[in-house]
Amino acid sequence: MHIHIFWDSLSPPGLQIPVTRKISSILGMPATVSENHVRMMGYVDGRKQIDAQVLLDSIQTYKHRHAIKDPLLLVVHQDLFNNGNSFVFGLARQFVGAAVVSTARLSNEYYGRGGNDDDLIDRITKEGAHEVGHLLGLDHCHDQECIMFKPDTLDELDRKKKVLCNVCSEQLAGYLSSD
Ligand SMILES: [Zn+2]
Ligand SMILES: [Zn+2]
Repeated sequence: MHIHIFWDSLSPPGLQIPVTRKISSILGMPATVSENHVRMMGYVDGRKQIDAQVLLDSIQTYKHRHAIKDPLLLVVHQDLFNNGNSFVFGLARQFVGAAVVSTARLSNEYYGRGGNDDDLIDRITKEGAHEVGHLLGLDHCHDQECIMFKPDTLDELDRKKKVLCNVCSEQLAGYLSSD
């Protein structure tokens, strides 16, 4: 098993290597990053957001065409929304192994604070590892410090640690050994 990360050309430059290393370390499996090859779809002019489900369709098509079975995470800079949610940090489609995260609401600048690359790296890492965690079979976790906790705000995201709790890591080990 191997995690593929696609970094869209407009996503924050220079952060893809540290983010990829950290996601790999949290989930305990190899990960590689490259430029994005998936067609960007789902942009809605009126909202200035991407419909995350449409973008997942596009990732699904790409994976199918290239016979990629391993999890694929796309990192984009545009803001995402989803049925019934005015925004989402990210979204995963487990049965096809496709996930997307947006960096739009992960920067300090978005909230009027001073920019900091380390903060941004941490947040993309946590969101990315969370969505790939879904692709590997994990559900949401009640432990507020666990990667699989679902944050509704940036503060909740920042409160999480860059680790899976014991329960989630045992579950993941079980899924991976049963493959
Ligand atoms: Zn989730
Ligand atoms: Zn957990």
